[in-house]
Amino acid sequence: MKCFSCGRKAVICLDYIDRCYCRDCFLELLEQRLKKELRRTGFDSEKEYYMLETPTSWLAEFLLKKIFKDRLRIKKTKRMKNKDMIIPIYLEKYVSDFLGAMLEQEDPARIIEKYHGENIYILKHFLWGEISLAGKLLGINPGKRESYGEVDILLEVFRDAHWNALFGAANSIEKLAGMIKLLREKRRKRVKP
Ligand SMILES: [Zn+2]
Repeated sequence: MKCFSCGRKAVICLDYIDRCYCRDCFLELLEQRLKKELRRTGFDSEKEYYMLETPTSWLAEFLLKKIFKDRLRIKKTKRMKNKDMIIPIYLEKYVSDFLGAMLEQEDPARIIEKYHGENIYILKHFLWGEISLAGKLLGINPGKRESYGEVDILLEVFRDAHWNALFGAANSIEKLAGMIKLLREKRRKRVKP
């Protein structure tokens, strides 16, 4: 089992892309993925942010420090604030919150608002398995992930056969969120006298 990038001994194989990586290349991969997400969401590193403490905020903090060094100003918080917020969660949680709301016939827009409201930067493109492996490699205990009740069954199906479907679902939710935001803005403009 060799690393896809450098040929050294691999420590993880990602079945959804069918590639194995060594410690350093795996951490590098996570960093690259986060960078891509930051670019896509228009993250402004000049601002000061509050980071919500979540089971995965240690990884977000580690990677953000690697990317921005000391330039980025972040304060940690246990509560949402009416300021620029960073919310680190993992992919399964993001998708399961949305699916769970639909299952309970709640308003899915509420979940979209929660994660895509004004001044919210959500870092979500890591799977729980990747996060817990990064924890092992860095000597940090990531704990256990939450149970999602009934939605767990669906996520099991995703995990066994359709990882791409899970990434796809997250992307679709994000696109939907973008459209809802746009419609809200248009509606607000129309209401103005
Ligand atoms: Zn490598």
